Amino acid sequence: MGKLIINDVDVSGKRVLMRVDYNVPMEESNGRMVINDATRIKETLPTLLNLIQRGARIVLMAHLGRPDGKPDPSLSLRPVANALAEMLRRPVHFADDCIGERVENQVKSLKDGEVLLLENVRFYQEEEANDPAFSEKLASLGEIYVNDAFGAAHRAHASTAGVPASIHKRGGKCVGGLLMERELKFLGDELENPARPFVVILGGAKVSDKIKVIDRLLEKADAILIGGAMAYTFKLADGIRVGKSLVEPDKTDVATAAVGKAKEKGVTFLIPSDNVIADPIDTGRKNKKGRAIFDLQNARINTERDIPVDSEGVDIGPATIATFANEIAKAKTILWNGPMGIFEDSRFAQGTFSIAQAVVDTTQKNGAKSIIGGGDSVKAINVAGLGAKVTFMSTGGGASLEFLEGKDLPGVVALGNS
Ligand code: AMP
Repeated sequence: MGKLIINDVDVSGKRVLMRVDYNVPMEESNGRMVINDATRIKETLPTLLNLIQRGARIVLMAHLGRPDGKPDPSLSLRPVANALAEMLRRPVHFADDCIGERVENQVKSLKDGEVLLLENVRFYQEEEANDPAFSEKLASLGEIYVNDAFGAAHRAHASTAGVPASIHKRGGKCVGGLLMERELKFLGDELENPARPFVVILGGAKVSDKIKVIDRLLEKADAILIGGAMAYTFKLADGIRVGKSLVEPDKTDVATAAVGKAKEKGVTFLIPSDNVIADPIDTGRKNKKGRAIFDLQNARINTERDIPVDSEGVDIGPATIATFANEIAKAKTILWNGPMGIFEDSRFAQGTFSIAQAVVDTTQKNGAKSIIGGGDSVKAINVAGLGAKVTFMSTGGGASLEFLEGKDLPGVVALGNS
């Protein structure tokens, strides 16, 4: 069933209460908080410009960081209001609270096409507790509810679940923004009946984080390619020695079950045949959490079945890159989540970047749809400068994974059906 979106409702002259994901990385510089990466703000511009053009009175609510339910000046959204004003090239009003009489008056004085950003909703512990009274107070600020914060839609908080429930109860419409619409289209509809072959690439740190996604995609995919540290749990399950690689020995049974299911369903299921390995050497230094810092030395390619006891797998090797790229080249639909190695270190980024290039080539030459399922794979594609060359990159991390697992996201469920 489809969800209502902003174009389905008349917003002219109406107070539109919109949840956005402005949880942007910030840093202190000369006593001021400065935004490091404004991508999340930029992503909301199409919805905002649409609403402004149609004469809505826009009230924005968002969270920033983890203030633990009390005001924290370093987590104020005020710098976001300034950045948004610059991007929209129009004033953005700021309310230094998110509920209360002063805020209500600020909302009342909004004119058609004006924008007001509320202070961090997480300054109240009632936000994460999805408190009904708090939700009511927030809900009183709008006639229509819009959610454009896919990245926060997996949380049942006041601003994502309680507020739309209140607005819905009094007959108001609750709809998705244009970013939300795109997320649901690409992570949902496009993968429901994908053009075939459908190739899924999964990497990252842990099997346990992604086993539910693997299990669900085994029902739909033609091929699943496994890289990253999670490949070592599959290797271990196959009786291969993995040295000091990051591995989850208690998850070998789920790995074996996934391989069995792939065989049963006729899904091509590939794990790396070779790896880049390195030797972790204790530097004697400790990180902020008091953990020993290891230096990865003596990086080399390992084509043996086993990884030496003192070494750690840190990337996929050249033969694996070639096999994976060959599989990707056949695809008409590609879904990718999780890097192939420790791509943050340029010595171990080759696997991830080569797979990114293979995904881009298949998109451009075969007209395949390439969908990047959020988190670190989006970061890696952007570092490789290939962001504009894939079909869609999700803005959600945890939300994308839960959505791909087939879970109902509270922030999506709360929207009206079309
Ligand atoms: P995830 O959030 O599960 O997608 O995991 C992303 C993280 O996995 C990145 O920070 C990578 O550095 C890390 N990673 C990928 N491959 C490996 C590996 N072979 N060993 C250790 N960490 C890895």
